[in-house]
Amino acid sequence: MTKKRKSGGRSGGNRGNKGNQQCSNCGRQVPADKIKKVSRWVSLVDPSMRKELRDSGAILPRRKVTSLLCISCAIHFKQVKIRSKDSRKPKSW
Ligand SMILES: [Zn+2]
Repeated sequence: MTKKRKSGGRSGGNRGNKGNQQCSNCGRQVPADKIKKVSRWVSLVDPSMRKELRDSGAILPRRKVTSLLCISCAIHFKQVKIRSKDSRKPKSW
């Protein structure tokens, strides 16, 4: 059977099954080695007040927010892009 990707869209080589995790956006159950992990820094201060406080020299608190996305949501939020046929299938296999 033809195969779109050598890895089948998963990471981890011949590690085997790693269980499922839930997508943070749609709640779908996704294999743990297929999920896309996206983390970003979020300020706890209101954006309008942030500039004032920054100008006065205050140190603002930030928090790291990590979200786990399924492939559909990762494409929707542009974390993953659709690649051409040549770039997704290496010529060596
Ligand atoms: Zn999702």
